[in-house]
Amino acid sequence: MEREHFDWPFLEDRHRRLATELDAWAASHVHDVHGDDVDASCRSLVKQLGQSGWLAHAVAGSEYGGAANVIDTRSICILRETLAYHAGLADFAFAMQGLGSGAISLAGTAQQKAAWLPRVARGEVISAFALSEPEAGSDVAAMSCAARLDGGHYVLDGEKTWISNGGIADLYVVFARTGELPGARGISAFIVTADTPGFEIAERIHVIAPHPLARLRFNNCRIAASQRIGESGEGFKIAMRTLDVFRTSVAAAALGFARRAMSEGLERARTRKMFNQTLSDFQLTQAKLAQMATTIDSAALLTYRAAWRRDGGHNVTREAAMAKLAATEGAQQVIDAALQMWGGMGVVSEQTVERLYREIRALRIYEGATEVQQLIIARELLKGAKA
Ligand SMILES: Cc1cc2nc3c(=O)[nH]c(=O)nc-3n(C[C@H](O)[C@H](O)[C@H](O)COP(=O)(O)OP(=O)(O)OC[C@H]3O[C@@H](n4cnc5c(N)ncnc54)[C@H](O)[C@@H]3O)c2cc1C
Repeated sequence: MEREHFDWPFLEDRHRRLATELDAWAASHVHDVHGDDVDASCRSLVKQLGQSGWLAHAVAGSEYGGAANVIDTRSICILRETLAYHAGLADFAFAMQGLGSGAISLAGTAQQKAAWLPRVARGEVISAFALSEPEAGSDVAAMSCAARLDGGHYVLDGEKTWISNGGIADLYVVFARTGELPGARGISAFIVTADTPGFEIAERIHVIAPHPLARLRFNNCRIAASQRIGESGEGFKIAMRTLDVFRTSVAAAALGFARRAMSEGLERARTRKMFNQTLSDFQLTQAKLAQMATTIDSAALLTYRAAWRRDGGHNVTREAAMAKLAATEGAQQVIDAALQMWGGMGVVSEQTVERLYREIRALRIYEGATEVQQLIIARELLKGAKA
């Protein structure tokens, strides 16, 4: 993978070492084509990523198996960009271990952290983040899944959908309404294990870039009150803080896909013979390549700026939204242009550009669709204008 951008001043030498070591590891350990059994591939990737130490970057707290006491945004961006370049499913496996256990890293008790984080970091336990519902996606505060306190227990009833790792996860962090106040203020976070009576996988969902995904159902599902993460009513804040850590890394994953498409596009342009020349001899092709490279560099600058600012302790609401918006939308354009260069070959199943074309699509929707990022950026700008 091309690594010149890792020399940018946003990064430190430890990040450059991480990028070099991971790129070499990924080139020999992960493949972008996997068999039909996506669950098995995902389980095996989680194990490999854990055993090789990469998942340590996805959890916080050195005493709990984390690489550092706080999750380093630049490290997870490098990890996701590099893994996405090599294989979308490897990026997914890494990201979900972090997102799924993020609430525990950020707001768990010492006992919850000790019980889960070391195993998540070693790849022995698979985690999931269960926030969205059929009627509460972008408008997540409209959720209706309820958790009713009953003595020393909470009883969960309702549904969650689009839950990545649903069906293979051992640990689900579930957000449910505890009803202190309406909207965002009446939500709490809980740890639910896959074997809890009353919890079931209602439906497996098949998407254009296959990965484990499911609708979950809770029916009189009793969990100990000690499985609540953070204070009652703090769940929405915990969910937003978790997404805040990982949003910039979605941009990094999009960058990884875009860079792979760029390299595929360049290869095709240099080698495809037509009209007694090669595809790259045509200025129309050169314009396309120039636009692709410029889109990638702009997205990378926004992504690593957001990560660097966040690691410096700054609020990056606006910067992270800009990075996600530019990198995911830009990657879609870059991949489309690369696919076009491949002509008919570009739409053949499991060709690299065809796979990338499918992989990128959901990134423009999840963890805040593009329109939601636009609203966030505008809100931040208008807040500044009022001040
Ligand atoms: C592959 C995949 C994996 C996912 N994994 C998880 C997961 O692990 N955990 C989890 O909790 N959720 C997950 N999600 C859910 C994801 O976060 C939601 O799909 C997303 O929040 C959008 O919600 P929705 O699908 O209900 O779409 P809706 O909320 O119905 O939005 C539909 C569209 O409306 C537009 N829109 C939204 N808001 C506005 C606005 N204010 N103005 C104008 N237009 C707007 C956007 O274009 C959006 O795509 C996943 C989704 C996908 C596709």
